[in-house]
Amino acid sequence: MSYLRDSGRLIDFAVAHRTISGGPFDFEGHEYLKGLYLEEEPVVVVRKAAQMGASEYGITRALFFAVRYGGRVIYYFPTDHDVTEFSQDRFRPALKDSPYLSALMRDTDTTGLKKIGRGSIYFRGTTSRTRMKSVPADFLIFDEVDEMIPENLELARKRLGHSAFGHELYLSTPTLPGYGIDQIYEESDQRHYLLRCPGCSRWHCLEDEFLQAHGSPRDVREEIVFVKGRPGYETLICTRCGHALDPGTGAWAARHPGRRSHGYSISKFASTALSAKERALGAHTKPAALLAQWKRTRFPAEFFNSELGLPYLAAEGGLSEHELLGLVGDYPLMASGRGCVMGVDQGSGLHIVIKEPTDDDYLLTVYVHHEPLTDERFTYLDHLMGDFDVRACVIDALPNTHAARAFARRFSGRVYLSYYNAGKGRAAFSFDPENTPVVSVNRTEAFDAWRDGYKQGLRRIPRVEGPVGEYVRQMTNILRAVREDPTTGAKRAVWIKRGPDHYAHADSYAELAHKRTRTRYATATILG
Ligand SMILES: [Zn+2]
Repeated sequence: MSYLRDSGRLIDFAVAHRTISGGPFDFEGHEYLKGLYLEEEPVVVVRKAAQMGASEYGITRALFFAVRYGGRVIYYFPTDHDVTEFSQDRFRPALKDSPYLSALMRDTDTTGLKKIGRGSIYFRGTTSRTRMKSVPADFLIFDEVDEMIPENLELARKRLGHSAFGHELYLSTPTLPGYGIDQIYEESDQRHYLLRCPGCSRWHCLEDEFLQAHGSPRDVREEIVFVKGRPGYETLICTRCGHALDPGTGAWAARHPGRRSHGYSISKFASTALSAKERALGAHTKPAALLAQWKRTRFPAEFFNSELGLPYLAAEGGLSEHELLGLVGDYPLMASGRGCVMGVDQGSGLHIVIKEPTDDDYLLTVYVHHEPLTDERFTYLDHLMGDFDVRACVIDALPNTHAARAFARRFSGRVYLSYYNAGKGRAAFSFDPENTPVVSVNRTEAFDAWRDGYKQGLRRIPRVEGPVGEYVRQMTNILRAVREDPTTGAKRAVWIKRGPDHYAHADSYAELAHKRTRTRYATATILG
């Protein structure tokens, strides 16, 4: 026991001091986890299916770090509610189950902070930016990255500051390709769990084989090519020689060896542990349970994310660079215009898009600009209102509502502060209590309309020079996805950011402003 305690390896610490569901810690049914417990790199990324032992791994890493290095760990969750639940239901039992760890506990035992040995472990939600700024750290753990706001993740990383350790651990079930955990995994050395066929010696990456055979949304989902056998007892087989494959004897292989961060992709095909629910549904093996789930699921996104640990993009996505470049016209960025509309996004300064309507219903982007530094009244915007003869401008109301309102006051009746709402229906133009014109719009519907304008070919973009390249890039950084509620099965469309997307918001605001001018014009026609 004392030898294990002093070996200085995570895996020995886990075996000596951790339990699994009250029993001894071992890797049975979860052999793929061994690679993670032997990991010694400072930055580790785990893109995983649901319930693969990743949070237990996070707990073990946190405890080990606090005890061995006396460092400060911050364990991040999407919300404060998740913090309370995790701290009480998962972390406290981990301490209670081990006399060694219990003895190391010091004075403080609160939901948000555990002091153990010379180290400490903080639990934090990622919704409050102010609370996230509070403590410096040596080791950051992010649990369920895809449920976190990307900017807040960036803010949290600053907590590492000048730590001599600078350890990071990212855990999450993926959602969209190139977003959240998938993006972080893509930048890693991309390890896959490979199974070697004892019959023909060929190595198999089952996720790849699944994608090749069943990656099409039109797949009828009646079979999985490498799952065969008596119903309820199916096993994994080699698609070349038919020999059975054993997930217990797999090996991790990196696609990009030598990269700084180590990434692990974990699907349920790596596991042989059956849940009580899977047993109740008549499965006697893990592959049988997965095949049943695959046949049963109405929407493949949930299967890809939660069972395969792979990202999935449903339906049509957003606007592609190819589509946008197809709309580039033979004109440069302009310095002035006539009867224009303007959209302004706040956040890292101001992102501005000005569009000019044509008589034949086209809308030309004529001006694109990023102003990094602004004053408290947004006076930078003033000259544009005149130079481009701006009839309507929609500006992001947040975060600096005060400045946006000051700008709106200077151009009475032409500037609208925009707020996103969760309701249904069209954009609603009205006034706020201070009598400033405002527009309230459903985010999904605003971006759907924005995308449709481009899809219909009724938009033009200036020659790609200066800021236009960045403008196009940012407009492809927002993606439409259909999310399925795992319990009710209800589907909901959302636009998700996968990188800087300020210009996409500014562009969509300009579209809203255009809609406003057209409504007014129509009214005038009827009245006249
Ligand atoms: Zn084989």
